[in-house]
This record gives sequence, structure tokens and C-alpha cells, in this order.
Amino acid sequence: MTRQEVQTLNEDFDRILREAGAERSILAQVGEHEVCGYALWREGAPLVMLSAGIHGDEPAGPLAVKALLKQGLLDSACSWLICPLLNPHGLVENIRENADGVDLNRDYLKQVSAEVQGHVKWLCQCREKQSVDVFLSLHEDWESAGFYCYEINCGEDQPSRVKSLLKAVSEHVDIEKATEIDGHSVREAGWIYHRAEPDVPEGWPEAIFLAKLGCPLSFTLETPSQISLERRVHAHVTAVKELLNVCL
Ligand SMILES: [Zn+2]
Repeated sequence: MTRQEVQTLNEDFDRILREAGAERSILAQVGEHEVCGYALWREGAPLVMLSAGIHGDEPAGPLAVKALLKQGLLDSACSWLICPLLNPHGLVENIRENADGVDLNRDYLKQVSAEVQGHVKWLCQCREKQSVDVFLSLHEDWESAGFYCYEINCGEDQPSRVKSLLKAVSEHVDIEKATEIDGHSVREAGWIYHRAEPDVPEGWPEAIFLAKLGCPLSFTLETPSQISLERRVHAHVTAVKELLNVCL
């Protein structure tokens, strides 16, 4: 996306979220870009965190957040932490990493990047108020032919949740058929049931950090980059809505 498009996207997030009453925190200033987190608290409600745009070459996530916000995401009966675009520089440059070549989604243990340092600090502040109950992160995969997800579940196994998710998404996008994805054997087609430990000891992704912070349930959603952007966005929108249906 162009600088102007990314700037406009960030302005759209800001307007919609603040009009709904969300508090904005600036997590980091990266060149001309502010990296923001938004918190919307509702007394006694479960806390859902939604994260997108940590990999700059995966535009479907941030665009899906915008579509979800326009479709009334914040009306759900929960509190929210939303990071709609964690790597704005990467999105402008169409690169996975940040400006220093750091894969932000492997930086949650070492925390060398300003983006992740700010994100971690904010998450820890929010946690003093309430722990995240469900974490959702939106990604794309340049190698897969179909949609798949990672589930990290530190609570009771409830296979019906992911089955509902995959059924809903399959009406729009094929589910990945490979029995091994990214080095992981699938539990069923399109479903990686991942332990709450990193694949690489020092390369913690965001989802592992959330699990270590005490978040009991997370879903990382992966749409195939080889289908159209519109369909990837629609798959993410469908997936998030279904997960909110079955998790809340
Ligand atoms: Zn990604």
C-alpha cells in the first residue's frame, strides 16, 4: 500500500475506534508512523484481543479489521484490546519485517524492536486491569493454498469451536488440505493444535507471549496470499465473527 493509503487506513481505525469510546495508546513511533493500541473496557465482560498487520506483506489482516469495525465488531458483548496495524512501515514497503529487518512476530522474548517493546509494555499495563481471555491474530501465508489456523488452548479442549470456524470459512475459501503445515502436523485439515511453547526457543511470536501472560485461548488465522485480497479479507471477517460466536 502507498504511504497515503496506510496513513488513511490508520486515520480510519482511529476515528472508528475513538468514536466508539476506545482509549488510544501510542505504542511506538516508527519514522512517520504511530503504532497504536486501543482499549475498550466494559465492566465484567470477557476481554478479547485482536491483532493485525504485524507482517507488512500481509495486508488482509488490517483491512479485515477495518471491515469488521465498520460491521459493528465493537457491539460484541466483550471488552476489546485492538492493535489494527503493528507494522505500518512494513505495510508501506510490502515487507514482512520492520525497517530494521526484525520479524516482529519472533521478537516477543528478546524485544529488540520499538514496536514490540511498546506493545509488550501496553499489554502488561492492560493486564493489571484484566487478563486477555481470547486472543485473535490475523495473518496470511504465501505458501499455503487454503485457509488454516493455529489454536493454542490452555483450558478445556473444545474441538467444536474450530470445527465451526472451518465450516464457516469453507463456504468462501478452501481449507488447506496439507497434512503438514509450516512444520506442524495438523490435527484435522486446516487446524494446527499448538502447545503454548515457541517453535524456536528465542523466537517468541505474539501468540506465545499472550499465552505466557496467562491468555488461555488463542487463534492465529492464516489466509492464503494466492487468492484475491478481497477474498482473504472476507475469510478473516467470517472467521473472526464465527470465533466470537463460539467463544463468547
Ligand atoms: Zn504473518
